[in-house]
Amino acid sequence: MGHDAGVSKPVAHGFRAVPAVERVLQDAAARPLLVRHRRERLVEVIRKVLDDVRAGLAQGSEAPSIAEIIGSVGDRLAAPGEGVRRRVINATGIGLHSNLGRATLAEEAIAAVVQAARYPSALEFDVERNDRGDRDTAVRADLCALTGAEDALVVNNNAAAVLLVASALASGREVIVSRGELVEIGGSFRMPDVMAASGARLREVGTTNRTHARDYRDAIGPETALVLTVHPSNFRVVGFTATVDLPEVVAIAHEAGLPVLDDVGSGALVDLTAYGLPHEPLVRARVAAGADLVTFSGDKLLGGPQAGLIVGRHAFVRRLAAHPLRRALRPDKLTLAALAATLQLHRDAPDLAAALPTLRWLTRSLPDLEAIGRDLGPRLAALLGPGHLVEVVSSEAEVGSGAVPARAIESRALAISHPDRPAHVIAAILRSASPPVLGRVREGRLLLDLRGVYEPADLLPDRL
Ligand SMILES: *Cc1c(COP(=O)(O)O)cnc(C)c1O
Repeated sequence: MGHDAGVSKPVAHGFRAVPAVERVLQDAAARPLLVRHRRERLVEVIRKVLDDVRAGLAQGSEAPSIAEIIGSVGDRLAAPGEGVRRRVINATGIGLHSNLGRATLAEEAIAAVVQAARYPSALEFDVERNDRGDRDTAVRADLCALTGAEDALVVNNNAAAVLLVASALASGREVIVSRGELVEIGGSFRMPDVMAASGARLREVGTTNRTHARDYRDAIGPETALVLTVHPSNFRVVGFTATVDLPEVVAIAHEAGLPVLDDVGSGALVDLTAYGLPHEPLVRARVAAGADLVTFSGDKLLGGPQAGLIVGRHAFVRRLAAHPLRRALRPDKLTLAALAATLQLHRDAPDLAAALPTLRWLTRSLPDLEAIGRDLGPRLAALLGPGHLVEVVSSEAEVGSGAVPARAIESRALAISHPDRPAHVIAAILRSASPPVLGRVREGRLLLDLRGVYEPADLLPDRL
Protein backbone atom coordinates (compact mmCIF):
# COMPACT_ATOMS: atom_id res chain seq x y z
CA MET A 1 0.00 0.00 0.00
CA GLY A 2 1.97 2.95 -1.24
CA HIS A 3 1.20 6.26 0.37
CA ASP A 4 2.15 9.50 -1.25
CA ALA A 5 4.94 10.39 1.15
CA GLY A 6 5.90 14.02 1.04
CA VAL A 7 2.95 15.06 -1.07
CA SER A 8 0.43 16.79 1.14
CA LYS A 9 -2.87 17.00 -0.62
CA PRO A 10 -5.83 19.01 0.58
CA VAL A 11 -8.34 16.79 2.30
CA ALA A 12 -11.85 16.88 0.91
CA HIS A 13 -14.81 18.26 2.80
CA GLY A 14 -16.81 16.15 5.24
CA PHE A 15 -16.07 14.04 8.29
CA ARG A 16 -14.78 11.12 6.29
CA ALA A 17 -12.11 13.46 4.94
CA VAL A 18 -10.36 13.75 8.30
CA PRO A 19 -7.21 11.64 7.94
CA ALA A 20 -6.39 8.78 10.27
CA VAL A 21 -3.73 9.40 12.91
CA GLU A 22 -1.49 6.85 11.20
CA ARG A 23 -1.81 8.67 7.88
CA VAL A 24 -0.56 11.88 9.51
CA LEU A 25 2.28 10.07 11.26
CA GLN A 26 3.41 8.43 8.00
CA ASP A 27 3.58 11.70 6.10
CA ALA A 28 7.12 12.78 5.29
CA ALA A 29 6.44 16.21 6.81
CA ALA A 30 5.97 14.53 10.20
CA ARG A 31 9.46 13.00 10.14
CA PRO A 32 11.26 15.93 11.88
CA LEU A 33 8.68 15.75 14.67
CA LEU A 34 9.36 12.04 15.13
CA VAL A 35 13.03 12.82 15.63
CA ARG A 36 12.30 15.25 18.48
CA HIS A 37 9.28 13.68 20.20
CA ARG A 38 8.20 10.29 21.43
CA ARG A 39 5.70 8.57 19.15
CA GLU A 40 3.13 8.27 21.97
CA ARG A 41 3.29 12.00 22.57
CA LEU A 42 2.91 12.74 18.85
CA VAL A 43 -0.12 10.45 18.61
CA GLU A 44 -1.70 12.22 21.58
CA VAL A 45 -1.20 15.67 20.03
CA ILE A 46 -2.29 14.56 16.54
CA ARG A 47 -5.53 13.23 18.09
CA LYS A 48 -6.17 16.60 19.72
CA VAL A 49 -5.52 18.48 16.48
CA LEU A 50 -7.80 16.10 14.55
CA ASP A 51 -10.53 16.65 17.15
CA ASP A 52 -10.20 20.37 16.52
CA VAL A 53 -10.35 19.78 12.76
CA ARG A 54 -13.60 17.81 13.16
CA ALA A 55 -15.05 20.56 15.34
CA GLY A 56 -14.01 23.12 12.72
CA LEU A 57 -15.61 21.13 9.89
CA ALA A 58 -18.84 20.93 11.88
CA GLN A 59 -18.75 24.74 12.04
CA GLY A 60 -18.31 24.88 8.27
CA SER A 61 -14.54 25.51 8.14
CA GLU A 62 -12.45 24.33 5.23
CA ALA A 63 -10.66 21.03 5.65
CA PRO A 64 -6.92 21.58 6.22
CA SER A 65 -4.23 19.79 4.23
CA ILE A 66 -2.08 17.15 5.92
CA ALA A 67 0.77 19.68 5.88
CA GLU A 68 -1.41 22.16 7.74
CA ILE A 69 -2.40 19.51 10.26
CA ILE A 70 1.25 18.67 10.86
CA GLY A 71 2.01 22.38 11.18
CA SER A 72 -0.60 22.65 13.94
CA VAL A 73 0.85 19.59 15.67
CA GLY A 74 4.30 21.21 15.56
CA ASP A 75 2.95 24.49 16.94
CA ARG A 76 1.31 22.70 19.84
CA LEU A 77 4.44 20.78 20.68
CA ALA A 78 6.50 23.98 20.59
CA ALA A 79 3.98 25.93 22.68
CA PRO A 80 5.44 27.66 25.73
CA GLY A 81 5.01 25.86 29.03
CA GLU A 82 2.55 26.99 31.63
CA GLY A 83 3.19 28.90 34.83
CA VAL A 84 6.84 29.54 35.60
CA ARG A 85 7.86 28.25 32.17
CA ARG A 86 5.79 30.89 30.41
CA ARG A 87 7.65 34.13 29.92
CA VAL A 88 5.57 37.29 30.25
CA ILE A 89 6.38 40.96 29.79
CA ASN A 90 5.77 42.92 32.98
CA ALA A 91 4.51 46.36 32.02
CA THR A 92 2.23 46.52 35.08
CA GLY A 93 4.33 49.16 36.82
CA ILE A 94 4.81 46.83 39.79
CA GLY A 95 8.51 45.99 39.90
CA LEU A 96 8.55 43.08 42.34
CA HIS A 97 5.25 41.48 41.30
CA SER A 98 4.62 38.42 43.49
CA ASN A 99 2.45 36.76 40.82
CA LEU A 100 5.14 37.33 38.19
CA GLY A 101 8.05 35.90 40.16
CA ARG A 102 9.26 39.04 41.98
CA ALA A 103 12.95 39.86 41.39
CA THR A 104 14.66 38.95 38.13
CA LEU A 105 18.22 37.83 38.69
CA ALA A 106 21.53 39.48 37.89
CA GLU A 107 23.55 37.83 35.12
CA GLU A 108 26.10 36.65 37.71
CA ALA A 109 23.33 34.90 39.65
CA ILE A 110 21.97 33.29 36.50
CA ALA A 111 25.45 32.00 35.64
CA ALA A 112 25.82 30.61 39.18
CA VAL A 113 22.50 28.75 38.85
CA VAL A 114 23.55 27.25 35.52
CA GLN A 115 26.88 26.08 36.91
CA ALA A 116 25.31 24.58 40.04
CA ALA A 117 22.71 22.85 37.88
CA ARG A 118 25.20 21.47 35.39
CA TYR A 119 28.00 20.22 37.63
CA PRO A 120 28.45 18.66 41.06
CA SER A 121 29.41 21.29 43.63
CA ALA A 122 30.84 21.39 47.15
CA LEU A 123 27.34 22.16 48.44
CA GLU A 124 27.90 20.45 51.79
CA PHE A 125 31.49 19.38 51.46
CA ASP A 126 34.62 20.96 52.88
CA VAL A 127 37.18 20.34 50.13
CA GLU A 128 40.24 21.40 52.18
CA ARG A 129 39.43 19.28 55.21
CA ASN A 130 37.92 16.45 53.19
CA ASP A 131 34.96 16.48 55.51
CA ARG A 132 31.25 17.11 55.54
CA GLY A 133 30.44 20.80 55.17
CA ASP A 134 27.47 23.04 55.71
CA ARG A 135 25.27 24.49 52.98
CA ASP A 136 25.18 27.98 54.45
CA THR A 137 28.94 28.31 53.89
CA ALA A 138 28.28 29.85 50.48
CA VAL A 139 26.44 32.83 51.98
CA ARG A 140 27.36 33.15 55.65
CA ALA A 141 30.48 35.33 55.37
CA ASP A 142 28.84 37.76 52.94
CA LEU A 143 25.62 37.97 54.93
CA CYS A 144 27.56 38.65 58.14
CA ALA A 145 29.74 41.25 56.44
CA LEU A 146 26.74 43.00 54.86
CA THR A 147 24.64 43.08 58.03
CA GLY A 148 27.15 43.15 60.88
CA ALA A 149 25.57 39.99 62.33
CA GLU A 150 27.50 37.18 64.04
CA ASP A 151 25.87 34.34 62.12
CA ALA A 152 23.41 33.62 59.33
CA LEU A 153 21.11 30.90 58.03
CA VAL A 154 18.98 30.56 54.91
CA VAL A 155 15.56 28.93 54.47
CA ASN A 156 13.01 28.88 51.65
CA ASN A 157 11.34 32.24 52.22
CA ASN A 158 10.79 34.82 54.90
CA ALA A 159 7.56 33.16 56.04
CA ALA A 160 9.60 30.01 56.69
CA ALA A 161 12.22 32.09 58.52
CA VAL A 162 9.64 33.48 60.96
CA LEU A 163 8.09 30.02 61.35
CA LEU A 164 11.47 28.47 62.15
CA VAL A 165 12.40 31.12 64.71
CA ALA A 166 9.04 30.90 66.48
CA SER A 167 9.13 27.08 66.45
CA ALA A 168 12.66 26.85 67.77
CA LEU A 169 12.48 29.61 70.39
CA ALA A 170 8.85 29.91 71.44
CA SER A 171 6.84 26.73 70.78
CA GLY A 172 4.35 26.19 73.60
CA ARG A 173 5.09 29.63 75.01
CA GLU A 174 4.19 33.24 74.32
CA VAL A 175 5.38 35.69 71.67
CA ILE A 176 4.68 39.35 72.34
CA VAL A 177 3.82 41.58 69.38
CA SER A 178 2.21 45.00 68.95
CA ARG A 179 -1.34 45.04 67.53
CA GLY A 180 -0.09 47.63 65.05
CA GLU A 181 2.26 45.03 63.53
CA LEU A 182 -0.03 42.02 63.02
CA VAL A 183 0.43 42.14 59.27
CA GLU A 184 -0.96 40.16 56.41
CA ILE A 185 1.27 39.97 53.35
CA GLY A 186 -0.29 39.03 50.02
CA GLY A 187 -3.13 37.07 51.63
CA SER A 188 -1.02 34.00 52.37
CA PHE A 189 1.25 35.29 55.13
CA ARG A 190 -0.60 36.32 58.27
CA MET A 191 1.49 36.75 61.35
CA PRO A 192 -1.13 35.21 63.70
CA ASP A 193 -1.41 32.12 61.46
CA VAL A 194 2.35 31.66 61.26
CA MET A 195 2.58 31.90 65.05
CA ALA A 196 -0.22 29.36 65.42
CA ALA A 197 1.56 26.98 63.05
CA SER A 198 4.74 27.21 65.14
CA GLY A 199 2.91 26.21 68.31
CA ALA A 200 3.67 29.58 69.91
CA ARG A 201 0.88 31.68 71.45
CA LEU A 202 0.59 35.24 70.26
CA ARG A 203 0.27 37.82 73.01
CA GLU A 204 -0.95 41.04 71.38
CA VAL A 205 -0.16 44.31 73.06
CA GLY A 206 -1.21 47.93 72.51
CA THR A 207 -3.78 49.01 69.94
CA THR A 208 -3.83 49.27 66.16
CA ASN A 209 -2.55 52.85 66.13
CA ARG A 210 -0.72 53.21 69.46
CA THR A 211 1.58 50.92 71.38
CA HIS A 212 3.70 52.12 74.31
CA ALA A 213 6.73 50.79 76.16
CA ARG A 214 4.57 49.98 79.18
CA ASP A 215 2.37 47.73 77.00
CA TYR A 216 5.38 45.52 76.32
CA ARG A 217 6.53 45.65 79.96
CA ASP A 218 3.10 44.73 81.33
CA ALA A 219 2.75 41.77 78.99
CA ILE A 220 6.05 40.10 79.84
CA GLY A 221 5.59 37.18 82.22
CA PRO A 222 6.86 33.67 82.97
CA GLU A 223 5.27 32.32 79.77
CA THR A 224 7.01 34.81 77.48
CA ALA A 225 9.67 33.33 75.19
CA LEU A 226 10.18 35.97 72.51
CA VAL A 227 9.41 39.57 71.61
CA LEU A 228 8.57 40.07 67.94
CA THR A 229 8.69 43.28 65.94
CA VAL A 230 7.36 43.35 62.38
CA HIS A 231 7.96 45.95 59.71
CA PRO A 232 4.51 47.02 58.46
CA SER A 233 5.61 46.39 54.89
CA ASN A 234 2.52 47.14 52.88
CA PHE A 235 0.66 49.83 54.82
CA ARG A 236 1.17 52.96 56.88
CA VAL A 237 -0.77 54.12 59.88
CA VAL A 238 -1.09 57.90 59.89
CA GLY A 239 -2.61 60.36 62.36
CA PHE A 240 -2.65 59.69 66.11
CA THR A 241 0.02 57.02 66.32
CA ALA A 242 2.71 55.79 68.68
CA THR A 243 5.18 53.00 68.26
CA VAL A 244 8.11 51.88 70.36
CA ASP A 245 11.49 52.13 68.64
CA LEU A 246 13.45 48.93 68.21
CA PRO A 247 16.24 49.92 70.67
CA GLU A 248 13.62 50.47 73.35
CA VAL A 249 11.85 47.16 72.64
CA VAL A 250 15.28 45.49 72.80
CA ALA A 251 16.08 47.15 76.13
CA ILE A 252 12.76 46.00 77.63
CA ALA A 253 13.17 42.43 76.31
CA HIS A 254 16.80 42.08 77.32
CA GLU A 255 16.04 43.37 80.81
CA ALA A 256 13.71 40.38 81.12
CA GLY A 257 16.27 38.04 79.54
CA LEU A 258 14.21 37.61 76.34
CA PRO A 259 15.38 37.63 72.72
CA VAL A 260 13.94 39.94 70.04
CA LEU A 261 13.05 38.78 66.54
CA ASP A 262 12.73 41.62 64.03
CA ASP A 263 10.94 40.69 60.79
CA VAL A 264 11.91 43.49 58.39
CA GLY A 265 10.11 41.94 55.41
CA SER A 266 12.01 43.21 52.42
CA GLY A 267 14.75 44.96 54.30
CA ALA A 268 17.62 46.54 52.44
CA LEU A 269 21.30 45.78 52.42
CA VAL A 270 22.16 49.14 50.88
CA ASP A 271 20.83 52.55 51.84
CA LEU A 272 18.17 53.27 49.22
CA THR A 273 18.07 56.97 50.05
CA ALA A 274 21.58 57.22 48.55
CA TYR A 275 19.86 56.47 45.22
CA GLY A 276 17.18 59.08 45.83
CA LEU A 277 14.66 56.41 46.83
CA PRO A 278 12.33 56.19 49.82
CA HIS A 279 13.76 54.75 53.01
CA GLU A 280 13.44 51.04 53.77
CA PRO A 281 14.91 49.63 57.00
CA LEU A 282 18.56 48.64 56.68
CA VAL A 283 19.17 45.15 58.02
CA ARG A 284 22.53 46.34 59.36
CA ALA A 285 20.79 49.07 61.39
CA ARG A 286 18.33 46.57 62.88
CA VAL A 287 21.20 44.30 63.94
CA ALA A 288 23.04 47.30 65.39
CA ALA A 289 19.89 48.32 67.27
CA GLY A 290 20.16 45.04 69.16
CA ALA A 291 17.69 42.67 67.48
CA ASP A 292 18.89 39.16 68.31
CA LEU A 293 17.53 37.80 65.03
CA VAL A 294 16.48 39.67 61.89
CA THR A 295 14.59 37.96 59.06
CA PHE A 296 14.05 39.20 55.49
CA SER A 297 13.31 37.99 51.96
CA GLY A 298 15.78 37.13 49.22
CA ASP A 299 13.54 38.15 46.32
CA LYS A 300 12.37 41.58 47.37
CA LEU A 301 14.76 44.55 47.40
CA LEU A 302 17.73 42.23 47.81
CA GLY A 303 17.10 41.30 44.17
CA GLY A 304 17.86 37.59 44.47
CA PRO A 305 15.96 34.30 44.41
CA GLN A 306 13.10 33.38 46.74
CA ALA A 307 14.73 32.77 50.11
CA GLY A 308 14.34 33.62 53.77
CA LEU A 309 17.43 35.08 55.37
CA ILE A 310 18.01 34.94 59.09
CA VAL A 311 20.90 36.86 60.62
CA GLY A 312 21.78 37.48 64.24
CA ARG A 313 23.40 36.11 67.36
CA HIS A 314 25.41 32.97 66.96
CA ALA A 315 23.79 31.06 69.85
CA PHE A 316 20.26 31.61 68.49
CA VAL A 317 21.20 30.89 64.88
CA ARG A 318 22.76 27.59 66.00
CA ARG A 319 19.54 26.65 67.80
CA LEU A 320 17.67 27.25 64.56
CA ALA A 321 20.18 25.21 62.59
CA ALA A 322 19.71 22.26 64.97
CA HIS A 323 15.90 22.33 64.82
CA PRO A 324 14.23 19.51 62.84
CA LEU A 325 12.14 22.01 60.83
CA ARG A 326 15.34 23.47 59.41
CA ARG A 327 15.80 20.31 57.34
CA ALA A 328 12.30 20.71 55.93
CA LEU A 329 12.77 24.41 55.19
CA ARG A 330 16.27 24.44 53.76
CA PRO A 331 16.79 25.90 50.28
CA ASP A 332 18.03 23.87 47.33
CA LYS A 333 21.40 24.30 45.66
CA LEU A 334 20.09 26.41 42.77
CA THR A 335 18.59 28.94 45.16
CA LEU A 336 21.76 29.03 47.22
CA ALA A 337 23.91 29.50 44.14
CA ALA A 338 21.79 32.45 42.98
CA LEU A 339 21.66 33.95 46.45
CA ALA A 340 25.40 33.66 47.01
CA ALA A 341 26.14 35.36 43.68
CA THR A 342 23.63 38.13 44.46
CA LEU A 343 25.16 38.76 47.88
CA GLN A 344 28.60 38.84 46.34
CA LEU A 345 27.42 41.60 44.00
CA HIS A 346 26.13 43.55 46.98
CA ARG A 347 29.62 43.37 48.45
CA ASP A 348 31.72 43.75 45.31
CA ALA A 349 29.90 45.55 42.49
CA PRO A 350 31.26 49.10 42.08
CA ASP A 351 27.94 50.05 40.45
CA LEU A 352 25.28 47.94 42.14
CA ALA A 353 22.45 49.75 40.34
CA ALA A 354 23.87 48.59 37.00
CA ALA A 355 24.50 45.03 38.14
CA LEU A 356 21.27 44.28 39.97
CA PRO A 357 18.07 44.38 37.87
CA THR A 358 15.89 45.30 40.87
CA LEU A 359 17.95 48.37 41.68
CA ARG A 360 18.34 49.20 38.01
CA TRP A 361 14.54 49.15 37.68
CA LEU A 362 14.20 51.49 40.66
CA THR A 363 16.81 54.01 39.60
CA ARG A 364 16.16 54.52 35.89
CA SER A 365 15.90 58.14 34.84
CA LEU A 366 12.68 59.55 33.43
CA PRO A 367 14.36 60.87 30.23
CA ASP A 368 15.55 57.31 29.63
CA LEU A 369 11.96 56.04 29.94
CA GLU A 370 10.65 58.84 27.71
CA ALA A 371 13.20 58.09 25.00
CA ILE A 372 12.26 54.45 24.89
CA GLY A 373 8.56 55.38 24.92
CA ARG A 374 8.97 57.72 21.92
CA ASP A 375 10.80 55.00 20.00
CA LEU A 376 8.32 52.28 20.91
CA GLY A 377 5.02 54.15 20.61
CA PRO A 378 4.69 54.29 16.82
CA ARG A 379 5.99 50.73 16.43
CA LEU A 380 3.42 49.39 18.86
CA ALA A 381 0.67 51.45 17.20
CA ALA A 382 1.61 49.95 13.83
CA LEU A 383 1.58 46.47 15.30
CA LEU A 384 -1.85 46.98 16.86
CA GLY A 385 -3.35 48.30 13.63
CA PRO A 386 -5.32 51.35 12.43
CA GLY A 387 -7.13 53.55 14.92
CA HIS A 388 -4.92 52.84 17.92
CA LEU A 389 -3.57 55.92 19.66
CA VAL A 390 -0.35 55.33 21.58
CA GLU A 391 1.18 58.16 23.63
CA VAL A 392 3.82 58.56 26.31
CA VAL A 393 2.25 59.65 29.61
CA SER A 394 3.29 60.16 33.25
CA SER A 395 2.51 57.21 35.48
CA GLU A 396 3.18 55.91 38.93
CA ALA A 397 5.00 52.65 39.48
CA GLU A 398 5.40 50.82 42.77
CA VAL A 399 8.08 48.53 44.12
CA GLY A 400 5.58 45.81 45.05
CA SER A 401 5.77 42.82 47.39
CA GLY A 402 5.32 45.09 50.35
CA ALA A 403 8.63 46.89 49.95
CA VAL A 404 8.65 50.69 50.32
CA PRO A 405 4.92 50.72 51.04
CA ALA A 406 2.50 53.38 49.89
CA ARG A 407 5.19 55.25 47.98
CA ALA A 408 4.76 55.83 44.29
CA ILE A 409 7.82 55.75 42.04
CA GLU A 410 7.45 58.33 39.29
CA SER A 411 7.44 56.61 35.93
CA ARG A 412 6.38 56.85 32.28
CA ALA A 413 3.97 54.63 30.41
CA LEU A 414 2.58 54.11 26.96
CA ALA A 415 -1.15 54.85 27.07
CA ILE A 416 -3.06 52.96 24.40
CA SER A 417 -6.60 53.76 23.32
CA HIS A 418 -8.89 53.24 20.35
CA PRO A 419 -12.14 55.07 19.52
CA ASP A 420 -14.16 51.85 19.15
CA ARG A 421 -12.24 49.40 21.27
CA PRO A 422 -12.50 49.38 25.06
CA ALA A 423 -9.20 49.30 26.94
CA HIS A 424 -9.89 45.86 28.38
CA VAL A 425 -10.17 44.47 24.86
CA ILE A 426 -6.81 46.02 23.91
CA ALA A 427 -5.43 44.52 27.14
CA ALA A 428 -6.74 41.09 26.14
CA ILE A 429 -5.15 41.38 22.69
CA LEU A 430 -1.76 42.16 24.24
CA ARG A 431 -2.17 39.34 26.78
CA SER A 432 -2.71 36.92 23.92
CA ALA A 433 0.53 38.04 22.26
CA SER A 434 3.63 35.89 22.34
CA PRO A 435 5.03 36.54 24.90
CA PRO A 436 2.01 38.00 26.71
CA VAL A 437 2.31 41.73 27.50
CA LEU A 438 0.75 42.65 30.86
CA GLY A 439 -0.31 46.21 31.58
CA ARG A 440 -3.09 47.84 33.59
CA VAL A 441 -6.27 49.63 32.60
CA ARG A 442 -6.64 53.18 33.96
CA GLU A 443 -9.32 55.70 33.03
CA GLY A 444 -10.31 53.96 29.84
CA ARG A 445 -6.77 53.47 28.54
CA LEU A 446 -4.34 50.61 28.69
CA LEU A 447 -1.11 51.69 30.42
CA LEU A 448 2.12 49.87 29.68
CA ASP A 449 4.67 51.04 32.24
CA LEU A 450 8.09 51.55 30.70
CA ARG A 451 10.27 51.23 33.81
CA GLY A 452 10.98 47.55 33.13
CA VAL A 453 11.51 48.05 29.40
CA TYR A 454 15.19 48.39 28.53
CA GLU A 455 15.12 47.56 24.83
CA PRO A 456 12.16 48.28 22.52
CA ALA A 457 12.11 44.54 21.78
CA ASP A 458 11.27 43.93 25.46
CA LEU A 459 7.81 45.30 24.78
CA LEU A 460 7.25 44.25 21.19
CA PRO A 461 5.89 40.72 21.13
CA ASP A 462 7.15 38.40 18.38
CA ARG A 463 3.56 37.62 17.49
CA LEU A 464 0.36 39.56 18.00
C1 LIG B 1 7.04 39.85 52.44
C2 LIG B 1 7.01 39.70 53.92
C3 LIG B 1 6.97 38.43 54.51
C4 LIG B 1 6.90 37.17 53.69
O1 LIG B 1 8.09 36.98 53.00
P1 LIG B 1 8.21 35.84 51.88
O2 LIG B 1 9.65 35.83 51.54
O3 LIG B 1 7.30 36.24 50.80
O4 LIG B 1 7.77 34.57 52.56
C5 LIG B 1 6.97 38.35 55.88
N1 LIG B 1 7.00 39.46 56.64
C6 LIG B 1 7.03 40.69 56.11
C7 LIG B 1 7.04 41.87 57.03
C8 LIG B 1 7.04 40.86 54.74
O5 LIG B 1 7.08 42.08 54.19
